[in-house]
Amino acid sequence: MKLAVLGNGQLGAMLAQAGQRLGIAVDLLDPEQASSLPAAETTITCEREHWPANVFTNALQSLPGWRNGAAIAALANRRQQKQLLNQLGLATAAWLPVSATTTQAELHATLGPDVFLKRVSGGYDGQGQLRLRAAQHQTMPTWAEQAIAEAAVSFTTELSIIGARGADGQCVAYPLTENFHHQGVLHISLGNFKCWQAWQQQAESMLFQLMAELDYVGVMAIELFLVDGQLLINEIAPRVHNSGHWTQAGSSISQFELHLRAVCGLPLAMPQQTGHSVMLNLLGQEWNPAWLAQAGVQLHWYGKSWRAGRKLGHINLCHNDSAQLLTWLEALNMPEDLYGASMAWVRGRLGA
Ligand code: AMP
Repeated sequence: MKLAVLGNGQLGAMLAQAGQRLGIAVDLLDPEQASSLPAAETTITCEREHWPANVFTNALQSLPGWRNGAAIAALANRRQQKQLLNQLGLATAAWLPVSATTTQAELHATLGPDVFLKRVSGGYDGQGQLRLRAAQHQTMPTWAEQAIAEAAVSFTTELSIIGARGADGQCVAYPLTENFHHQGVLHISLGNFKCWQAWQQQAESMLFQLMAELDYVGVMAIELFLVDGQLLINEIAPRVHNSGHWTQAGSSISQFELHLRAVCGLPLAMPQQTGHSVMLNLLGQEWNPAWLAQAGVQLHWYGKSWRAGRKLGHINLCHNDSAQLLTWLEALNMPEDLYGASMAWVRGRLGA
C-alpha cells in the first residue's frame, strides 16, 4: 500500500514511521520543491493546511487520490472557519471580521477591553497574533485587513479533542487532552486524565458533527477553551496535531496510525489507553543524552536545525501513577527560564 503526504516536517516523518509499522510506504513531498507526482492511484494526504501555491502543489491537488480538498479549503482560512462554526451552531469566542478601516476602538466597543487580532492564515504557535488592550492604544498592524478579531476569554483550561472519521462515516476519538500554552506555544499536554470526562461527549459531538459536515476522512483536532463550564472552539486542525503526540506512548493506536488507517480505508478500531500520559515539547533545546536516563522517557527528536524557541522534538511519558510522571518530568531538569511556568502548572496538575 502506498501513500503520499504533502509536507516533509516532523508530522510527515511521524506519519511515515507509523506507516512503516503497518506496511504502508509513505512518501513525503516537499511543497517547496517540484518532484515527480505520485502515481494516479496513490492516496495523498497532508501534514499541514497551508502550503505555497506552485505548479507542483497545484498539480498534486488535481490528482484523483488527493483527499479532503474541500474540507481543508473551508478550514485553512480562519475567517471562513469561524463562519462555518457559527453556521453549524458550534460555540466560539465572540469575533469580528476586520477591514482596512476598522479601528481599535471599534473592536473594543464590540468585543470588550481585551482582544486578540489573528491573521486569517499563516499564523501558528501564537505568531500572526496581536493582543489589543483598551487601556493601551496600538497602531493597527499592516496585516489587520487579513485578520479577524476575537474577544479574549478567561478560560478554566485549554483542551483538545482529537479523533478520526473513516470514509464510511465511522468516527472514533481519544479522551480529551489538556494543554498548557505559554506565550501562544504549546508546552505540555496531558492525555487520558479522567477529570475531563464530563466534557468528553460534548467535545466528541462537536468533532463528529464537523467531520461529517465536511465529509472529512482522517484525523482532525479541535482546540477548545473551557469557559464557565462551556466548551468554546478556538481552532480546528484538519490533520494530526501536536496535542495528540501523547498517543504514541499512551494509546494502542497513535494519532499517526489512526490517520493512516482512516485515509487508507483500513479498520478504525477504537484506540485503547494504557495509563495517564504527558507530552513535553522540546523548545529551543540542544539534544541532551541526559533525558534518556529516565526509564519512562520516550524521546522523539526531529533532527531540525536549532533556533531559539523552535520545536525540535518532544518527550512522551506514560504511567498509571501521576506522581511517577511528575518524578520523571522533574528529573529532566528543563531550564527554568523557558519551562518555569509550564513546570509550575504541571506540578499543580500531577502533584498530590
Ligand atoms: P491560537 O494560535 O489561536 O491557537 O492561539 C494560541 C494560544 O493563545 C491559545 O492556545 C491560547 O492560550 C491563547 N489564545 C488564543 N486566543 C485566545 C482567546 N480568544 N482568549 C484567550 N486566550 C487565547
